[in-house]
Amino acid sequence: MGRPNIGNRERLLARFNDLLDRRWLTNGGPFLQEFEERLADYLGVPECIAICNGTIALEIAIRALGLAGEVLVPSFTFIATAHALQWQHITPVFCDIDRRTHHLNPELVESRITPQTTGILGVHLWGEPCAIEALTEIANRRRLALLFDASHAFGCSHRGRMIGNFGRAEVFSFHATKCFNTFEGGAVATGDRELAARIRLMRSFGFADYDEVVHLGTNGKMSEVAAAMGLTGLESLDEFIDCNRANYRRYQSLLAGIPGLCLHPVDASERRNYQYVVIEVDEEAAGISRDLLQAVLAAENVLARRYFYPGCHRMEPYRSNPRHATELPETERLSRRVLTLPTGTAVDAEAVETISHLLRLSVENAAEMSSAARRAAVR
Ligand SMILES: *Cc1c(COP(=O)(O)O)cnc(C)c1O
Repeated sequence: MGRPNIGNRERLLARFNDLLDRRWLTNGGPFLQEFEERLADYLGVPECIAICNGTIALEIAIRALGLAGEVLVPSFTFIATAHALQWQHITPVFCDIDRRTHHLNPELVESRITPQTTGILGVHLWGEPCAIEALTEIANRRRLALLFDASHAFGCSHRGRMIGNFGRAEVFSFHATKCFNTFEGGAVATGDRELAARIRLMRSFGFADYDEVVHLGTNGKMSEVAAAMGLTGLESLDEFIDCNRANYRRYQSLLAGIPGLCLHPVDASERRNYQYVVIEVDEEAAGISRDLLQAVLAAENVLARRYFYPGCHRMEPYRSNPRHATELPETERLSRRVLTLPTGTAVDAEAVETISHLLRLSVENAAEMSSAARRAAVR
C-alpha cells in the first residue's frame, strides 16, 4: 500500500495525444514551457527550471553555484543529497540533527565549518522547513552558499511563503514516490536570474543556440511526457494534499495513546503536503522494536518503511572513508526509531484504520508477551 498519485487520466491521455500529434517529444517543448510557468506561479518564484530528476537537479544546482571542497549536509537524509556532492568530488561533511525537529542542528553546522567549506545544503525533511533563518544567518556571516534539498517539501510554506523562495536556490524532486510526481522529474527554483540562466545552459549540454555551446553541460532535460504528467498533477495537487491530510488526521486520532509510538507533528498553521506519516518507535516503551513492527506490517502486506537507516555516513562510499568516521548520535538514534506509514490517494480511510489497528495490536501483544516472559523467568 502507498502508491503514486495520478491526476485526471482523461486529461493526461489527451495531453499524450497532443504531444504525439505534434511529434515534439523533448527539448523545451510547449508542455515543458507551460509546466515551468505554472510551477513558478504556484511557488511564487521568479525562475523554475524543470529537470529530468531531483538528483540531477541537485547536481546541476551545486555546480551552477560553484560549490567545491566541502559542503555541510545532514546524514539523516536520502542518500542522493550526499551523492550529488560526492559525484562532483565535493566532500559532504555530515552534521548531526536536532532530536525534536529531525533537521540539521545549526550550532553543529557552524562548528564543522573549515577553510574548505563553500556551502550548506539543508534538507526540508518530511516537508517541514529546516532551520532556515539560523542557516541563512550562518551562511551570510561565513560567506557560504546556501542551497536547500526541498525534495519533500513541494506545496509547503514557511512563514507564509512557499518553499522554493529560500537560500540561493531550492531543489524539488517529482519522483513517483513524492506527493506530486512527473514519473521521474525535478526542478530548481531560484530568484537569481543569472543562476537560472546558467542552470538552463547546463541542463542542455551548454547549448545557447543551434551549434553554439557556451558552457559545460549535461543532459538534465525533462521530456514532454513528464511535463504533461506534471501539468495534469498540478491540477489535482489540492486533492492529493486533502487526501493526505485526512489520512494524517485519521492516523493521529487512531494512534493516540499507544505506548511508545509517537507521530511526528505537522505544523498545521502552514501549508503542508502531509506526504510523510512518520512515527518514532521507542522500543523500551512500546515493548517491541521498530524492525519487528515493520515485519508485522509487512506480513499483512503493509509497506511501512524505515527511513534513512542507517544514515548516509554509514553507507558507502562514506562508511569506509576515515574522513567520515564521525559519530552522529542523534542521527543514529533516530535512524533506529523512524517508521513511515503508507498514505496518498491509493490509501483510504479503511486502510488507515487497518494499519493503525495492527500497530495497536502489536504493541498490546508485545506487552503481554514480555510480561508472560517475565512471569516465566520468575518461576
Ligand atoms: C527523492 C529525494 C531525492 C532524489 O530525487 P530523485 O528525483 O529521486 O532523483 C533527493 N533528496 C531527497 C531528500 C529525496 O527525498
